[in-house]
Amino acid sequence: SSQLRGGGRSTLEIAGRKVGGEHFALIAGPCTVESRDQLMTVAQVVKDAGAAMLRGGAYKPRTSPYSFQGLGQEGLRLLAEAKAATGLPIVTELMDVRDVEALAEVADVVQIGARNMQNYTLLSEVGRSGLPVMIKRGLSSTLEELLMSAEYVLKEGNENVMLCERGIRTFETAYRFTLDITAIPVLQELSHLPVIIDPSHAPGRRDWVAPLSLAAAAAGADGIIVETHPEPDEAICDGPQQIPTDTFSDYAQKVARAAELAGKV
Ligand code: PEP
Ligand code: MN
Repeated sequence: SSQLRGGGRSTLEIAGRKVGGEHFALIAGPCTVESRDQLMTVAQVVKDAGAAMLRGGAYKPRTSPYSFQGLGQEGLRLLAEAKAATGLPIVTELMDVRDVEALAEVADVVQIGARNMQNYTLLSEVGRSGLPVMIKRGLSSTLEELLMSAEYVLKEGNENVMLCERGIRTFETAYRFTLDITAIPVLQELSHLPVIIDPSHAPGRRDWVAPLSLAAAAAGADGIIVETHPEPDEAICDGPQQIPTDTFSDYAQKVARAAELAGKV
């Protein structure tokens, strides 16, 4: 009794923003919330450039337990402030079922990170919360496995699900992950859910983010979630791949043109 009917496209409405169908959503913000200054600067730039939503991690899934793990509750508080200042809906990652209520107070979209794509208790909990969810494809997960993860949320009666391709492990070592552009038409054929592309984590280098973004938008992605930072070289995490906020407006215009090519507004 799969709920992933193929063919038609679903349009989600998230805090007044439409995603899916003919509606393209640009979601942008820092990898992680670092400070009030950093977040407010990015939020204003992202809003002025016409982006649909603001991203930013308060809970970060870091490869090393000794790396910065995010500001946690304080990060959520800053996201709430950025939302109040700009009106932008917030996309932020949930890693632990125990944080779902705190997150629900600020998040308009709950991000399930690549490393938690198959954390089924987390998926079911988010399903029950009723909050819109964006599920990122696991580092070595098939599209079928990604769709099964979406089913865990749908099964709880939560239809507000977006899928996100963020790059997968391949034999290639010249960059971090291989962005699977083919996932866009395939996921759109196998399901009705919006397909979002994350062009930041695959290349791991900021000058390769724009070409991947344009490819994704032209290929018909329903949205892009990209990392941007006022001073990427000073960023606490994922600095090399974050595009400087002073180039964001130009980037956003180019992405909008590519999305238009694919028939999106
Ligand atoms: C992120 O969006 O900052 C992130 C950690 O992504 P992923 O789960 O795809 O690695
Ligand atoms: Mn990141």
